[in-house]
Amino acid sequence: MNLLLLTEEDFAADGTARLRDRRLAHALQILRAAEGDTLRVGLLRGRVGTARVLSITADELVLLPALTDEPPPRPGIDLLLALPRPKALRKVLPAIAALGVDTLVLVNAARVEKSYFQSAVLREIDALLAQGLEQARDTRPPRVLLRERFRPFVEDELEGLLRKDLRLVAHPLAQAQLERRAPATLAIGPEGGWVPFELELLAAQGFTAVSLGPRVLRVEVAVPYLLGALR
Ligand code: SAH
Repeated sequence: MNLLLLTEEDFAADGTARLRDRRLAHALQILRAAEGDTLRVGLLRGRVGTARVLSITADELVLLPALTDEPPPRPGIDLLLALPRPKALRKVLPAIAALGVDTLVLVNAARVEKSYFQSAVLREIDALLAQGLEQARDTRPPRVLLRERFRPFVEDELEGLLRKDLRLVAHPLAQAQLERRAPATLAIGPEGGWVPFELELLAAQGFTAVSLGPRVLRVEVAVPYLLGALR
């Protein structure tokens, strides 16, 4: 990780932060931090900066952080993602946080397997997003919503929730190419693709179907590729 992510609860009244969890293990084993070292830190949903290591033992890392800078700018992208299979979800969540997505909606679709909504990965969302933030030196995770019913979500909720500057639905068979850039909302389908009914409902909410060409990409490749193409 390129930044240790701190939360308000880590801080003591004297301004030091005391860590005993996986971040201590990381500081010991990977960073090989020693007293007097300076580490990069960030406060969840807050500023980033550096922290001096006041002490480090097998039990506790004590830091004195100075949170001086704003986290990196955001590209202005909301993502509507058909809930991917658990393995793919585990890969895309850190990438989504690292690329600075503002709002992520994980939605059901005709070609999403029902069992995916029972996946254990859904209980690890915050930790997977934190991995991506630490990688990208950001502190602001996307807002994440899980929606098990596609149609009511798209018809009743989507309008006020996802940005409307530009709305695109990625679909390999679309005529139009992706040309315009963020700020935008992007919709990415399941492994089996969007069905026509879903494309119609999205079109009614202002989504234009765009293709990235004839190479059909797996979801874990399509997500970072499409987010990159939009920036
Ligand atoms: N067999 C499916 C493939 C789905 S790939 C189909 O033909 O639709 C999973 C999702 O990734 C797609 O729904 C789309 O949102 C995105 N995607 C993958 N490759 C793409 C491409 N070449 N152009 C646009 N979107 C793509």
